[in-house]
Amino acid sequence: KYQSLGYNRVLEIHKEHLSPVVTALFQKPLLLHQGHMEWLFDAEGNRYLDFFSGIVTVSVGHCHPTVNAAAQKQLGRLWHTSAVFFHAPIHEYAEKLAALLPEPLKVIFLVNSGSEANDLAMLMARAHSNNIDIISFRGAYHGCSPYTLGLTNVGTYKMELPGGIGCQSTMCPDVFRGPWGGSHCRDSPVQTIRKCSCAPDCCQAKDQYIEQFKDTLSTSVANSIAGFFAEPIQGVNGVVQYPKGFLKEAFELVRARGGVCIADEVQTGFGRLGSHFWGFQTHDVLPDIVTMAKGIGNGFPMAAVVTTPEIAKSLAKCLQHFNTFGGSPLACAVGSAVLEVIKEENLQENSQEVGTYMLLKFAKLQDEFEIVGDVRGKGLMIGIEMVQDKTSRQPLPREEVNQIHEDCKNMGLLVGKGGIFAQTFRIAPPMCITKLEADFAVEVFRSALTQHMERRAK
Ligand code: PMP
Repeated sequence: KYQSLGYNRVLEIHKEHLSPVVTALFQKPLLLHQGHMEWLFDAEGNRYLDFFSGIVTVSVGHCHPTVNAAAQKQLGRLWHTSAVFFHAPIHEYAEKLAALLPEPLKVIFLVNSGSEANDLAMLMARAHSNNIDIISFRGAYHGCSPYTLGLTNVGTYKMELPGGIGCQSTMCPDVFRGPWGGSHCRDSPVQTIRKCSCAPDCCQAKDQYIEQFKDTLSTSVANSIAGFFAEPIQGVNGVVQYPKGFLKEAFELVRARGGVCIADEVQTGFGRLGSHFWGFQTHDVLPDIVTMAKGIGNGFPMAAVVTTPEIAKSLAKCLQHFNTFGGSPLACAVGSAVLEVIKEENLQENSQEVGTYMLLKFAKLQDEFEIVGDVRGKGLMIGIEMVQDKTSRQPLPREEVNQIHEDCKNMGLLVGKGGIFAQTFRIAPPMCITKLEADFAVEVFRSALTQHMERRAK
């Protein structure tokens, strides 16, 4: 047991000295003490299977021994700025990361967080295109810094302050919530158990969403834009997938207007989607800029922007670009070890195998429970959207979602929540989980839903 501070003292200190706008994930906030691979332990010694990875951050496992050993070795050697000296870990890391990206995405800028990476990508897009307007989806989360807050279109994070100058939002092609109806049945492993009888693409409404996208483009300054940001699958908005072919067409429309295309791989990168190492590859597109964070360091603060030599040169419009800690020897040692573990332990393949296995098991719950509206995702990024009933698709009230969430926690399973009504459960465990743990998670979830239906019936 962790003895140094009691639970109540922690709550007092939190209230007095820490941010008043940080929401704890659970009604009774969890006080964590220790992590090991896919397991977390609270201060009272209770054990939880972590199926949210600290918001999709722990990629290879909490305190993975190889990553910890690499960090400890570097700690004893040198930890320092990378900005004005050279050190081998950054060069080793840059070479390894670049090898994982297709041509011409070969120039790497290392920073410390996803917001910082997206800030830099915005700057590059504008410097390169000589345009200002940047487009992102409604429901997108790209960061909370004053610059990226303009791109983040989730109302709860917004402030009534100027900051999003030149940022335009466009309709999110969310086939489940969108006005044209539809489902994720096409292009998903769920299709193998739920035969869709509709004609090709009829349940995807891609063309309607593209018309909406064109409408946004035509209202930007002189029909010219600096860039378009997209998460390959939206995370915070509740694991939202786009109609097949949408991103490809959208990228072409953006480029025809002088803009660059940015893939935000903060949640989808590093093999999480299973079939591919990067989320953009699942859409068969090649972005001009890729941003990454979270899983890149397995929880260590590091992030990156990768782009083409040509776009990278646009930063030369200023004489120096500087970042004290970005690409520090310690971060690079951690980043290299993470890449090594993903490869050595076949974690991308594991995401594909265990993720698909679990997705199909969760999809069965959609047939069993009226309040499970949609089950979707790819690899180890799964969303379970909760509704009042399948016909109306109205979101299940927040208190009911929270209760199911809390019940899962009390049975030893931590999952996330997302969506603008907080109506979608998000499953994104460290990529090292086993099928046995996937079975456990599905059973806990089934049990929480059964309890909930009994409560509802009373
Ligand atoms: N992009 C995406 C897709 C994210 O999910 C997040 C964080 N939730 C960010 C950017 C911002 O990352 P950070 O919190 O490291 O600034």
